[in-house]
Amino acid sequence: MPGTPVGVIEEFLPGEGLIEDNGYIYTIGTGEVELDLSSRIARLRPIKKPLIPKINDIVIAVILDHNKDHANVKIIGIEKSRESIIDVELDGLLLLRSRKNPLEIRNYDIIRAKVTADTIPLVLEINDKKLGLIYALCPQCPGELVIKGKKIVCSQCGFVDNRKPEEPNWFRKIQ
Ligand SMILES: [Zn+2]
Repeated sequence: MPGTPVGVIEEFLPGEGLIEDNGYIYTIGTGEVELDLSSRIARLRPIKKPLIPKINDIVIAVILDHNKDHANVKIIGIEKSRESIIDVELDGLLLLRSRKNPLEIRNYDIIRAKVTADTIPLVLEINDKKLGLIYALCPQCPGELVIKGKKIVCSQCGFVDNRKPEEPNWFRKIQ
């Protein structure tokens, strides 16, 4: 809020977006106060808008609930590269019919999907070889699913998951 007192002159000096009046520092716009510790100058920075993925972006999402046609998901990351995932928290709708070989999904599965419509909720699809299951928990016990050989198995109860994980995935590999 403009005119909000944010400090006193003894603490820091007013930079961009801030003014001093009678020893107090006030904002003259809206934003977040950012303090440079070395110069002791504070500035008002515009608040960054939440990041929204664009069409064709690859996102990481958790399945919340599903039927055979679609799933409600929580998008938890936007993949910028294999190593770089930007954290987000957005609602998405994953369409399952579009895939030639329908992926069997379960709640809490983590999938990699492509954004096909930047509406709210964002529409996602997994109709590409490089998209699909990247992590899951055991449906029969609290165990972690891991990759043993070419199969996904439960590290605790021995459940065998016949699904094929996509690469790269987050499953731990065991001998
Ligand atoms: Zn298990």
